Amino acid sequence: MAESGLTESGEAAAPAPVIPVAPGEKPWTDEELAEVRAELEDEVTRMRRKLASAEAELHELLTEGSDVVGRDPADVGSTNFERDQGMSLAANARELLEQSLLALKLFDDGQYGVCEACGGPIGKGRLQAFPRATMCVACKQRSERR
Ligand SMILES: [Zn+2]
Repeated sequence: MAESGLTESGEAAAPAPVIPVAPGEKPWTDEELAEVRAELEDEVTRMRRKLASAEAELHELLTEGSDVVGRDPADVGSTNFERDQGMSLAANARELLEQSLLALKLFDDGQYGVCEACGGPIGKGRLQAFPRATMCVACKQRSERR
């Protein structure tokens, strides 16, 4: 049993990663890759900001929510509603942030553009529209229909 630690494809000496494209698509150019990467970084910045403000707002609501005595019940109700909204907003931002961070990590690992479900190419057109995508259209639709 001789374990060289190298796979058949020789991972150790991998040059610049080649991001796959769907059949019929042209290979990625450096500019296109830089654009998608910048888009992901933008998204991370945006989501971090959104998450921070959603959490700050939530904190405010929670603090003022403890002071319900003598308040109009309708006010309390709308505060609860706002709090629920704030929570789902924060949860949503956190999820998008995590997805973007994952996509960036895949990018740096040279795994970007590979469908996590079937291992096939996600496709350039799809990634340019949804840089966060980690599944090809077919797998995505299958997972949503489930
Ligand atoms: Zn797939």
